[in-house]
Amino acid sequence: PTQPAKEYLMQPLPLPLSPKPYKPSDKLLGKVALVTGGDSGIGRSVCLHFAMEGATVGFTYVKGMEDVDKDETIRLIKQIKRPSSSRDPIAIAADLGNESECQRVVDEFIKEYGTIDILVNNAAIQYYTDSIDDITESRLENIFRTNIFAYFLMARFSLNHMKRGSCIINTTSVAAYRGNSELLEYSATKGAIVSFTRSFSARLVEQGIRVNAVAPGPVWTPIQVAKMPPERSTTLGCEVPMKRAAETYEIAPSYVFLASDDCSSYFTGQVLHPNGGA
Ligand code: NAD
Repeated sequence: PTQPAKEYLMQPLPLPLSPKPYKPSDKLLGKVALVTGGDSGIGRSVCLHFAMEGATVGFTYVKGMEDVDKDETIRLIKQIKRPSSSRDPIAIAADLGNESECQRVVDEFIKEYGTIDILVNNAAIQYYTDSIDDITESRLENIFRTNIFAYFLMARFSLNHMKRGSCIINTTSVAAYRGNSELLEYSATKGAIVSFTRSFSARLVEQGIRVNAVAPGPVWTPIQVAKMPPERSTTLGCEVPMKRAAETYEIAPSYVFLASDDCSSYFTGQVLHPNGGA
């Protein structure tokens, strides 16, 4: 986009889902998916793509958060022509940074849909680190709680309801691999998600549950823009070989691929890297 990022994100929705309309092919017909952070950004696009592929989708959101809107995700999912097996979406408000909230989300989801075939751990926060002194214990605790504790706990509680053939997909980041001098704590949490994915995948092989991750490069979403220094807002993505940030619809198909047995039955413990060559 040529306009400042904030204005770009504030354009009336729906933004085009894709420059070429995405062609779904029932890859997730009959599946039930729980997506954390589906009120916004990549999570919203994952919800929409899963729904286009025939899945039933429920998602979590944070109450009162600026720039995110769970009603918009619900409205967009309902606009999609879905098969009769696909039930209406639900949105569950939760701060996933604590254990009891994670348990409650899974309980409410199971009460509504009875099972979890696909868990997408996607919600996260990030802080820009101007000075090393910004790194306080409470900030560390907050970011590790949301970005990694929640992934463990959501997996733990969801697994009680996941059958053979189910899968978990975690959102990590290019920052896990390259580091990021402005996002120190965030990069560390994203690195932890890679190890979490590998360890859980090995652990769950015998239960027939696949665990994979997606590590996007820069993507135009509120997490990037809300706290971004203004001078960065038109240069996001300039550092990657493709010289641009992605749109969310360029990231979501990686989740469809990893969720679909047709495409990825031999994938576990893997990370896909939609990152413009980074
Ligand atoms: P976003 O701001 O649009 O979404 C973040 C989501 O996290 C929101 O839906 C929000 O509801 C949720 N969330 C935040 N705090 C929470 C809490 N305490 N409890 C529960 N939910 C909470 O940003 P996004 O870019 O779509 O981020 C989605 C994922 O993609 C994150 O894991 C992020 O780290 C990752 N990612 C983003 C980029 C990027 O450039 N945008 C790049 C790589 C990875």
